[in-house]
Amino acid sequence: MPYFTSRVALPEYEKMRKTSHFTLDDTCIGCGLCARKCPDKAIEMRDGRPVWVKERCIMCLGCLHRCPKFAIQYDDRTREHGQYRHPGTRV
Ligand code: SF4
Ligand code: SF4
Repeated sequence: MPYFTSRVALPEYEKMRKTSHFTLDDTCIGCGLCARKCPDKAIEMRDGRPVWVKERCIMCLGCLHRCPKFAIQYDDRTREHGQYRHPGTRV
């Protein structure tokens, strides 16, 4: 298991957590929620738009799932899956 983790899973995780995977739709209303709630401070608001300022984040996907307009996507993989928030969590 340690071999698998270090040789296979970790490099794959490092590739996945690049913030360059995120895209922003025109539906963004500039509310800034994604930036305020990012636990890694990887997002800044510039001219009313979120900008990912770190090359890598912890990839919690909180920004994608909290956005009230579902304006954040991860490559072309997430649009069809929609959003999810645990009913016990507050935005
Ligand atoms: S939470 Fe969504 S709508 Fe609000 S600024 Fe971020 S991307 Fe735009
Ligand atoms: S995935 Fe999580 S850590 Fe990465 S930018 Fe979004 S909220 Fe921040």
